[in-house]
Amino acid sequence: MTAAMDISVTKTGRSRLPELDMNNLPFGKNFTDHMLVADYENGEWKNAAIVPYQPLQLSPSLAALHYGQAIFEGIKAYKDREGHPFIFRPYDNFKRFNISAERMQMPAVPEEIFMDGMRQLIALDQAWIPMKEDYSLYIRPFMFSTDELIGVRPSDTYKFMIILSPCGPYYAEPMRIFVEEHYVRAVPGGVGYAKAAGNYGAAMLATAEAKKKGYDQVLWMDAIEHRYVQECGTMNVFFIIGNTAITPGLEQGTILEGVTRMSVISMLKEMGVKVEERDLSIDEIVAAYNAGEHMEVFGTGTAATISPIKELGYKDLSMKFDLSKWKIAPAVKKTITDIREGRIPDTHGWMYAV
Ligand SMILES: *Cc1c(COP(=O)(O)O)cnc(C)c1O
Repeated sequence: MTAAMDISVTKTGRSRLPELDMNNLPFGKNFTDHMLVADYENGEWKNAAIVPYQPLQLSPSLAALHYGQAIFEGIKAYKDREGHPFIFRPYDNFKRFNISAERMQMPAVPEEIFMDGMRQLIALDQAWIPMKEDYSLYIRPFMFSTDELIGVRPSDTYKFMIILSPCGPYYAEPMRIFVEEHYVRAVPGGVGYAKAAGNYGAAMLATAEAKKKGYDQVLWMDAIEHRYVQECGTMNVFFIIGNTAITPGLEQGTILEGVTRMSVISMLKEMGVKVEERDLSIDEIVAAYNAGEHMEVFGTGTAATISPIKELGYKDLSMKFDLSKWKIAPAVKKTITDIREGRIPDTHGWMYAV
């Protein structure tokens, strides 16, 4: 049961769109004219509003800054060939957002704020959705605690917001990835399955050290044995070995259940590729590599879509993959991009009309 909620709209007096260079859109740097804001107070959501994009005024004692009750989502909107705006699978992100909220002891955000607010905001700023191939409008819903109190306890008040950022391709180049055996991202019973802000800060030291060694990202291993593959930065990871696609399972709650991951699994099955969601050890990967098996390795995520991995560094071994021989990953990438950008029919019902 969702009662309609009035979302007030205050439009900007002057659009910044004419100042935007649509041919140069680094990820997450430019924001559209408007944003959505809603407040949680006294046990209910109120003040849902679309207003001009602007800074927030926050107290130094704001709870989120001290104890990290903060979560987010990442979604993309596109235009079809006639210029109609569509959002890729936003209900899946909506559900995941409230799973993250529950894990962090934050209130659920109702559908009429998350979904209707997002739709109205995008409708208002739709001129900001790029139509160029591999470009899109990145949607960033987020929530943080707003009590002005530095006691460690769940906040009584929260702010939910959505901001929008037009962006170009995320990782243009195939990546070199370092197999991380020292630092860990998530443990069973922890918060790995939540898109909680602190997970990303916690990953930065390992990533910085991998970058010093010449890599782009780390491939996280499980926290107990440091042997089983988990995921990669803000991407789930797939290994195609022979004609089987293997991706880590979700049972342990240590990896993020990616919407792109789900979509890629469906597409692989439709292509006749066998998909296994299971534990995959680094030893199995090394054995397949040394046996000269056909291998395609890639990350999946909203920001990056499908990112090929051209090299995996593990101890003294550098596993290099010949991208010119890949067939499955490029086909999946083409299909998902064509669906999102409206070049082929959406047979799955993934595209949500704004
Ligand atoms: C967001 C994210 C992903 C990818 O999820 P999508 O829904 O496909 O964007 C994977 N891993 C982590 C850690 C993430 O934060």
